Amino acid sequence: MNGRLDRAEIVIVGNGIAGITAALEARRLAPEKRIVVITSQLHPPIHTPALKQFACARLEREQLLVHPAGIERQQRIHVITSRVEEIQAQSQYLLLSGNRPFHYGKLLLATGSVPQGLPETLPGQHFDGVLTLHRLRDYLDLRRRLPTVQEAVVIGGGAHAVETVMTLLYWGIRTHWLLRGEYPLSRQLDAQGGALVRETLHRAGAIIHQGIEVVDIVGRIGVVVGVITNQRKMIPCQLVLVCTGSRPAIELSERCSMPLCRQHGILVDDLLRTNVPNIFAAGDVAAIRDPQTNRYAPRAQWYAAGEQGRIAGAMLADRPDLTRPPLGVSWHATHLGELSLLIAGNPHLQYPGIETLTDASQGGYRRLALFEDRLIGYLSLGHIQPDSLAIKRLIEEGHSVRPILKALLKGDVDAHHYFARLQAPPVQALPLINSQPERQRLPITGKLALTPEQLPLLAGSSPTGPSPKVPAGSSAYSHHTLWSYLEQKERP
Ligand SMILES: Cc1cc2nc3c(=O)[nH]c(=O)nc-3n(C[C@H](O)[C@H](O)[C@H](O)COP(=O)(O)OP(=O)(O)OC[C@H]3O[C@@H](n4cnc5c(N)ncnc54)[C@H](O)[C@@H]3O)c2cc1C
Repeated sequence: MNGRLDRAEIVIVGNGIAGITAALEARRLAPEKRIVVITSQLHPPIHTPALKQFACARLEREQLLVHPAGIERQQRIHVITSRVEEIQAQSQYLLLSGNRPFHYGKLLLATGSVPQGLPETLPGQHFDGVLTLHRLRDYLDLRRRLPTVQEAVVIGGGAHAVETVMTLLYWGIRTHWLLRGEYPLSRQLDAQGGALVRETLHRAGAIIHQGIEVVDIVGRIGVVVGVITNQRKMIPCQLVLVCTGSRPAIELSERCSMPLCRQHGILVDDLLRTNVPNIFAAGDVAAIRDPQTNRYAPRAQWYAAGEQGRIAGAMLADRPDLTRPPLGVSWHATHLGELSLLIAGNPHLQYPGIETLTDASQGGYRRLALFEDRLIGYLSLGHIQPDSLAIKRLIEEGHSVRPILKALLKGDVDAHHYFARLQAPPVQALPLINSQPERQRLPITGKLALTPEQLPLLAGSSPTGPSPKVPAGSSAYSHHTLWSYLEQKERP
């Protein structure tokens, strides 16, 4: 081994926000353990959501750093720049590039996500000037090119595409936005909300092409000069920006000697344990449980990745007792040009018994999903961002929202005031592992996180718990049982 470091009690693959947060938390809780981060990334962790400000030259590279430079050394966290190629789970070691073995006591997979990019069969995608935006080097490339670009094409319909269109408009570039559907963010918004985003970007100057797909990218002497659409139209441009979303980076988990269960991402329980002993997953690569629907999927968001990093750090340090409460309902807040978007819980859940209310006043759009008098999902799009964490808390604690329904619909609820006046304790808590029915309970201290028998239950999209025997409003009435209850109700 040439005296090289070849083992550590705690090994983390990936130094994104999930990986670095886990490393720092593990160091805090386990001052004596050797912690090693192995990453293929050539720079310290950066604040990925701020890359759009970097593209607008509002931030410089140094300002993207999540932590002061050198924090790893200061915290005795050893960083190895290498790619992990394989996991030998029975003998607990990794194979790094060049066949270098590295032994672990506990392993965290925080390998993040990779961009979807364009279909491999699409001609012309390798011309100079066709960029997929995902990592820092893509944005460095973009910034170098922007001063010479007059006309650009953006492909993709998610929040990333919206932000990219706004960046190009900021630089005064004539921007074509190609949408496959009729409106953007079709996974997060309904038609009304999507139309509002589309109109806002249209007013900002974007040339929007709806129901369009690129069938060819045209180049001249190796450099892009335009795209051809399925409507046989040529759009000239000097830059094509691909923002077609991302998917969990599960390639390493596919090269594990003991099969790691996956469903969209690597399946984990509420304490981020995979089905393989001593292996955890966190961040964009981990498929975690939505407490409202019991479906497993990654929450590919900055805040969620950091929170998972904290839980993973406690688990790696052998301190499950110090893990924070479960992540709770999904929650996402961002800016789409001049619009603020907040989505908490499941505003699009449609089931007998669920009431949907919408409001489109004041130049914005709100959508509420209610079950009896409790909020189970909230969507807000407009010029004002409601207090997003307070809305999340409203959903998780299950208080009656009747007294503030109008304000919620108008998007101007004063949640602090509401909570301050609230006398009643939370009606319901999010289901914790130990509140699950016996056969779905996962051992916290056991060596093997999930048994093979438990995995089909985890992977299932509907819970197996009994239907509630208590009326709505009782303290035993959890989101978990709510879902069961709705399913029961629907049965003949
Ligand atoms: C351009 C962009 C803008 C975004 N904007 C927002 C936003 O506005 N709001 C928001 O909430 N979220 C946003 N996100 C999402 C958010 O940034 C991510 O959810 C979060 O950064 C995920 O962190 P992570 O640690 O899980 O993964 P990553 O940051 O992807 O880190 C994964 C790490 O693993 C390493 N790695 C992977 N495989 C291996 C291997 N085999 N061996 C060694 N190392 C490996 C990679 O090199 C990398 O260092 C954005 C994402 C992008 C790309």
